[in-house]
Amino acid sequence: MHLAPNKKNLLITGATVVDAYSEYQADVLIEDGTIKQIGDIDANSSVEIIEASALYLTPGLIDCHVHLVLNGSPNIVEYVQTKSDSELTAIATANAIRTLKNGVTTVRDTGGKNFIELKVRDAVNSSAILGPRILASGKMITSIGGHVRYIGREAQGTEDCRRAVREQIENGVDFIKVMATGGLLTEDVEHEDIELTAEELAAAVDEAKKFGMKSAAHAHGLAGIKNAINAGVDSIEHGSFANKEEIERMTSSSIFWVPMVKSLHNILDDDIENRLSKECKRRTRLSLNAVKKALRYCTRATKVVCGTDAGTPYNYHGENSIELELLVEYGLDTHQAFESATTNAADLLGLGSRIGLVREGYDADILLLKKNPLDDIKSFRKSLVEVIRSGSPILKKKSY
Ligand SMILES: [Zn+2]
Repeated sequence: MHLAPNKKNLLITGATVVDAYSEYQADVLIEDGTIKQIGDIDANSSVEIIEASALYLTPGLIDCHVHLVLNGSPNIVEYVQTKSDSELTAIATANAIRTLKNGVTTVRDTGGKNFIELKVRDAVNSSAILGPRILASGKMITSIGGHVRYIGREAQGTEDCRRAVREQIENGVDFIKVMATGGLLTEDVEHEDIELTAEELAAAVDEAKKFGMKSAAHAHGLAGIKNAINAGVDSIEHGSFANKEEIERMTSSSIFWVPMVKSLHNILDDDIENRLSKECKRRTRLSLNAVKKALRYCTRATKVVCGTDAGTPYNYHGENSIELELLVEYGLDTHQAFESATTNAADLLGLGSRIGLVREGYDADILLLKKNPLDDIKSFRKSLVEVIRSGSPILKKKSY
């Protein structure tokens, strides 16, 4: 099967366009993967028409924290150590397709193995396979014996951290991922422990900036969050134990926050199968309580970004929009949740002038839904009828 983008122009008629800034009824003309025109448009014979007057048209969703090589296995360490690179490539490819079919047209992969996810990214870019747009960080940079050491790049000292960053760049990554604290899933590493030191983080971020690259810091505990903010990272991943002061600092300095509530819920799903350690679940319960509290410190100006950590235990690719439902459950309104997966996420990726809104000149990454997501955020999961990626309809249902 040839999967090259459909070059035929597409006219979507009569839909209610909904993005973070506006809501109105219009026709949307797509040419060569780009939104060419929005308004009252007459069809010509060369366009394929989707009649959508009963539907809502939104930007495709953006998930800023996934791990394409991981598959939701509870034995995550054993899984990733024992699978061959070719098995992981096949799994990552399937995960990318599943993600796209569920309405996510862009993902940020925050750590893989042996640069496999970069190969998947390149295959999507060359239209060899279907998938969302992928930006990837390559190997997570961690301390010696630290969190995710089994697939990450262990580093010690500021010079080695700079070297680790350059290694990732040499391999073609899109941004840098550093570990500021321990995590939930690595044995003998506490989630609040410092991993890379303040000096090491600052060196890594500085080295990345030399190459125009953004940095994302994994940080659960407060001390690590402070170190990462001081180092000048672009985003805090998790940020579970952020206090009011640190949320305010992130807000005032436009550091993006990717809280990832879904991943915590999914780890606690293990109470049925009981394959994760008591320690892991203890850390997770503490983190979930903490992140719920931290979300209350958000204001409308806080740059909350949707991330799921998809691939971690029981956290399957394609379920991404559940994160938006949980953000609403924990106090954000539907508009903030919508922004987290559209405009805020696009800005974090540095792609705010191309994706995250429905505008002329933007990439035609579009969803069609039966219900307005601003009325019911579950619409992304329950009422999705079409996904358009770079102008090509993916689901191709017979009727909408
Ligand atoms: Zn992660």
